[in-house]
Amino acid sequence: MQKSALVRALTRDGSAMIVAADTSQIVQTAHEIHNLSKTMTAALGRALTAASMMGSLLKEEKQSVTLRFCGDGPAGTICCVSDWRGNVRGYADHPEAELPPNAKGKLDVGGAVGRGPMHVLRDLGQELPYVGVASIVSGEIAEDVTNYFASSEQTPTVCALGVLVYPDFNCRAAGGFLVQLLPFADPQVTEQIEKNIGAIESVSRMVDSGMRPEDIIRTVFEGLEYDVLDTAEVAYVCPCSRERYARALISLGRKELSRLIDEGEPVETCCSFCGKKYVFGLDEVRELAQNC
Ligand SMILES: [Zn+2]
Repeated sequence: MQKSALVRALTRDGSAMIVAADTSQIVQTAHEIHNLSKTMTAALGRALTAASMMGSLLKEEKQSVTLRFCGDGPAGTICCVSDWRGNVRGYADHPEAELPPNAKGKLDVGGAVGRGPMHVLRDLGQELPYVGVASIVSGEIAEDVTNYFASSEQTPTVCALGVLVYPDFNCRAAGGFLVQLLPFADPQVTEQIEKNIGAIESVSRMVDSGMRPEDIIRTVFEGLEYDVLDTAEVAYVCPCSRERYARALISLGRKELSRLIDEGEPVETCCSFCGKKYVFGLDEVRELAQNC
């Protein structure tokens, strides 16, 4: 499996921007970390792909975007965080959730996610993050992201996502693209893009057939002049650390830490994104309590 990659391009007339990604390796890593069911490999895989592409639209280092689906389906909450390059991490409340195939014989991601609100949080390094909210329209993720941009950010967007899963639940291919129209887009360019996208059968099949992100862009922007802005290798990355968890313990406050010390057991924390465990011995917890 090739390393995951993400490419951005812009039509030469400035009408439309595209991000395309091959996220097979990212989704496979998520599958391995969380022991995802077949349906959840597709569900979290699509969400990770969307978050990674949205992260690549951030302007500056240290900025991040969180994409969260709070549906009422068996998956529970699905949460993905991407940095500004598109390096991403995520989890679902119920990685084991499994459903029979839907009416079309496909993995029932919509059924697993259910309905409810979805949030997009952009941490731009200011005091408060920018928060956008929309309703989950189908739970199929791509449609929900498209609807989010139209309804919450008034940005005409087409999002396509796809994950193919092997019978043993490993990821076979995953990827997607995100096209956004810029203000004063030429209607002829819009029409051409719509025609090109209409002819695409499935983005996961494109990746599975060996197409790289630049090939996906060539297909979506067929007949249009465009420039590739940048190409980046992306991965499943969790920036958690022992220090971060120590700070989280301090933030619990002296009273709560005293209670933990009284219990007499080392305090074990586990990262929801990567599964890494950090154990703090009683002496360490006592020391942290001094810093509260
Ligand atoms: Zn972690």
